[in-house]
Amino acid sequence: MLLKDKVAVITGAASARGIGKAVARLFAAHGGRVAILDLDEAAAVAAAADIGAGHIGLACNVTVKADCERAAKEILQRLGQVDILINNAGITQPLKIMDIQPENYEAVTDVSLRGTLYMSQALIPHMRSRRSGSIVCLSSVSAQRGGGIFGGPHYSAAKAGVLGLARAMARELGPDNIRVNSLTPGLIQTDITAGKLTDEMKVEILKGIPLNRLGVADDVANSCLFLASDLSSYLTGVTLDVNGGMLI
Ligand code: NAD
Repeated sequence: MLLKDKVAVITGAASARGIGKAVARLFAAHGGRVAILDLDEAAAVAAAADIGAGHIGLACNVTVKADCERAAKEILQRLGQVDILINNAGITQPLKIMDIQPENYEAVTDVSLRGTLYMSQALIPHMRSRRSGSIVCLSSVSAQRGGGIFGGPHYSAAKAGVLGLARAMARELGPDNIRVNSLTPGLIQTDITAGKLTDEMKVEILKGIPLNRLGVADDVANSCLFLASDLSSYLTGVTLDVNGGMLI
């Protein structure tokens, strides 16, 4: 029961096969109460009900600062406290450099960068007042490799930005006992990747993964639990590569 008496907020966690939902399920299994945020209210409420009683689901578009502030207020009213924030919401687009239009750039960078900034800003005052908090930000191996299989260059840039933002927050918030760490998943089988991998692509991809398999959402959730919980009590500003050895 690593998260007994803890409350966690997870953005973009309503997607059934997604990383956020797997994190929510694992956190609930470890005794935490969870607030699931996503674009669609009904989907967020259903996802919260699906992981058990005592959890809540709320609509929140993380690119809109007022939405993040409203969600934070409602979570504090209904659950009383927030100990953990997982900045998980993200979108990707498989575009080449010359095909990226202004609206593509804005859509992809907004969710990862504005979303991480605005949701963190909405909860930092509360965490500061309790002198306690753990924030985990979802970046990607695309940030480190300069390109992924499904993410375009704008996605790599947004996810590299997330790493910088997370480290800067870790430095600034450390004295308030708020830890901020990042995860850089490799290729994880979720809706982002579903149906897009041919058998030939898989064989090619596996050549570059020493553990010789694609990741699953639970692989990321387990590392997220480590970073979110007191198991990582002296870690801040770090990045965990959850990628099966892709970068060795
Ligand atoms: P997913 O598409 O399954 O889930 C993403 C969720 O974010 C969806 O439920 C979607 O509705 C939500 N969302 C999108 N825009 C939002 C917004 N503006 N406000 C609130 N919610 C919003 O994706 P996933 O594969 O579970 O990815 C989760 C995170 O992990 C993302 O940040 C992604 O970039 C990152 N990641 C994924 C992989 C992978 O291979 N799947 C690899 C590396 C990093």
